[in-house]
Order: sequence, then C-alpha cells, then structure tokens
Amino acid sequence: MKALVWHGKQDIRCDTIPDPEIEDPKDAIIKVTSCAICGSDLHLFHNLIPAMMPGDVVGHEMMGEVVEVGSETRKLSKGDRIVIPFTINCDECDQCLRGNFSLCERSNRNKDLGDKVFGHSTAGLFGYTHLTGGYSGGQAEYLRVPYADGTHIKVPDGMPDEQALFLGDIFPTGWQAAVQCDIQPTDTVAIWGAGPVGQMAIRSAILLGANQVIAIDRLPERLSMAEAAGATTINFDDESVIERLNDLTGGKGPEKCIDAVGMEAHATSHVDALYDRVKQATMMESDRPHVLREMIYVCRPGGVLSVPGVYGGLIDKVPFGMVMNKALTIRTGQTHVRRWTDDLTRRIEEGQIDPSFVITDTVPLDEGPGMYRVFEQKQDSCIKVVLKP
Ligand code: NAD
Ligand code: ZN
Repeated sequence: MKALVWHGKQDIRCDTIPDPEIEDPKDAIIKVTSCAICGSDLHLFHNLIPAMMPGDVVGHEMMGEVVEVGSETRKLSKGDRIVIPFTINCDECDQCLRGNFSLCERSNRNKDLGDKVFGHSTAGLFGYTHLTGGYSGGQAEYLRVPYADGTHIKVPDGMPDEQALFLGDIFPTGWQAAVQCDIQPTDTVAIWGAGPVGQMAIRSAILLGANQVIAIDRLPERLSMAEAAGATTINFDDESVIERLNDLTGGKGPEKCIDAVGMEAHATSHVDALYDRVKQATMMESDRPHVLREMIYVCRPGGVLSVPGVYGGLIDKVPFGMVMNKALTIRTGQTHVRRWTDDLTRRIEEGQIDPSFVITDTVPLDEGPGMYRVFEQKQDSCIKVVLKP
C-alpha cells in the first residue's frame, strides 16, 4: 500500500510498504477513506518529539471502512464506517473506565519506555513517537486498529467524511480545552493559536456559553475564520497581546486562557523568543513556551490555563511563582477523545456545528509530502489539509 513515512527531519515521503495485517484477535483493519494533517504532525516533521524512527508511518486523524476484523472483535463488522480516535484505548483498564482514554494503561506496547521517560506510561497513540507505542499511523491506504472495539467512533448513516473526520482529534481536542476551562456565562476566554485546534476551541467556547471569546494569531485568514465564528481577534504581529487583553477585560485579564499553539510558539519582538530559539536549536530546551508565559502573566488571578497545545519535554524560565501566587489552575493532556464523541456526534447531527468549515485543501495521499510543507509554511492560506488515499 501507499503510506506517508517519516524518514527524519522535514523528510516525509509517500512510500510503498506492506499492507497491515491482523496481529492480535482484538484488531481490525480499515481501508482509509479520508485522513488529515495535524499540527502535532508538524512537531514530528520538525523532529521535536523524541523517539521517532525512520520508517514510521505517520498520521493520527483518519477514518474509513472496516475490511477485516480479528476473532475477538465483537463490536465491528466488515463494511462499518468508523472514525479512529488518535488515542488507542482498551476500554477495560482503570483509566479507560474513568474516561481517561489518553491514559489507557494497556495500549502502549512500549510501556517500559513510557514509564522511564514520563514516570508512568500513557496510552498508545497512532502515528506518533515510540514513547507512545510507535503504532503505524493512518496517512495510508490501510490501517491496523488495535483494541478495535474501544478504538472507534461509528459514523451515523449519511454523514459525509468531511463532517465526521475531525471527531477523531481536533474537534474533541478544542472541546476538551474549552470544557476544562469550566466556562461561566460571564467569562472571557482568550485562545492563543487560530489553527485548526484553536478554531475548534473558539467554537466550543461559544457553544459552552462564554461571554467573550478572543482569538490570538498573526495569520489574517485564520483570524478571519475566528471572527466569522464570533470571536474578537488580536494580531500579535501588530499589537501587544497583553495590553489588548487587559483593555478587553476592564484591566482584569481573561478568566480563562487556552494555549492552542504548543511547543513551537512564535514571538516577534520579545527577548524571550530569541532566548528560546537559541536554546531549542542547541537542544538545551525542547520547547518554546512563549505562549505559556504570556498566559500566566495576563490571566486573571484565580483563573484557568487550559493547554491542549503539545509540549514534548523541557521548558525554561516559566514563572511558576506567578502561577502559585495568582492561584491559577493548569489543565492539560492529550485528548480523551471518546469521552466526548457521543455528545459531539449528536451536535453535528443536530447542526449545532459542522467541523468541515476548517478544511481548506483536499488532495490525493501522494501529494501529502508537499502538503506538509504548505501547511508548515501556512502558504496559500492553508488551514487544514485532508488527504484522500
Ligand atoms: P497549527 O500549527 O495549524 O496552529 C498553530 C497556530 O498558532 C498557528 O496559526 C500559528 O500562527 C499560531 N501561533 C504561533 N505562535 C503564536 C503565538 N505566540 N500566539 C498566538 N498564536 C500563535 O496547529 P493545530 O493543528 O491548530 O495544533 C495546535 C496545537 O495543538 C499543536 O501543538 C498540536 O500539537 C496540538 N494538538 C494537541 C492535541 C491534544 O490532544 N492535546 C490534539 C491535536 C493537536
Ligand atoms: Zn492531532
């Protein structure tokens, strides 16, 4: 089959590799009908997440049709249309039973490695580092789905791929980021990053009844998309984020802050930006925490910092004393995708939201490597790429 394969920094190729096979009775195989490129894939593209290996198949946003099921797979049959959550979950361990699906205790087949690096291992993830199992991803014609009974979302009859696809990652990710803010009707929610995750967080915060939603980015097309949803926007290239946020909140700062940027934050005019770039380039720091610092500084005392943005390792010069003295709550994590997807599927069916609004580019799978560059460089107003194997 054809698949997008990681060969190293900024080197993803469309290779021909063997088709996946059932390896465990709990597996299923799907023929992928649609997949997408995520901001998390860009961290892999830039080789900022440790423990990727040449030959790894990337991609963790995918859906398709079941073509084969293992002998112990009870909830799926050939022909079923399913979206695959990027977190592999067994549905039986203590964490899965609590709905903490991204912390599944069984699905990481490299548990020892995870234990060593994180203290305790987390769930297996598709198309990601070997710290989370090194499972082949879904930017491919076929995908093996481990623990398939737990690791799927059934697509309602008649729902097109474009509406369903993002149930596997960015929609529940934006949603979880907003839910973790515990939004009150009087709240201002400020969201850094108007990429696909930020866009979903903006719409989620509005659906959850925030009084005011403020989107921060520097790309005009992304800010326009945020504005169309009803957000107030700040272009961090043109204005001071801290001053504008204080102005928009009567000097008190937003109660809730969402970091939908993560470890590759840009900062144009700050000394800390230069410092982080140098430290990241010389591998003395793995992540650039500019957004975190800004959020901690501007957040209203007693507020919440919700962090869906991915961090890989070490951050430097984060003012934890400010977090402590301002009594801020930090909530974060890889998304517990399936915790949210019944509710979100219903919201799509009811027309409360159509997540396909975010798609700007749809191309065949073998154009994927080129689209990584386009998405990376944010060229041609690219916001979200869907690949068709
Ligand atoms: P993206 O790269 O398309 O979007 C990031 C956006 O942040 C860009 O529009 C960029 O211009 C903007 N940005 C950069 N620096 C900024 C700054 N200082 N202030 C404000 N905006 C800034 O990526 P995406 O697909 O939207 O993903 C965003 C983040 O979410 C990534 O870190 C990704 O890994 C993470 N993610 C997490 C989960 C999860 O489960 N927690 C799931 C999916 C994605
Ligand atoms: Zn993702």
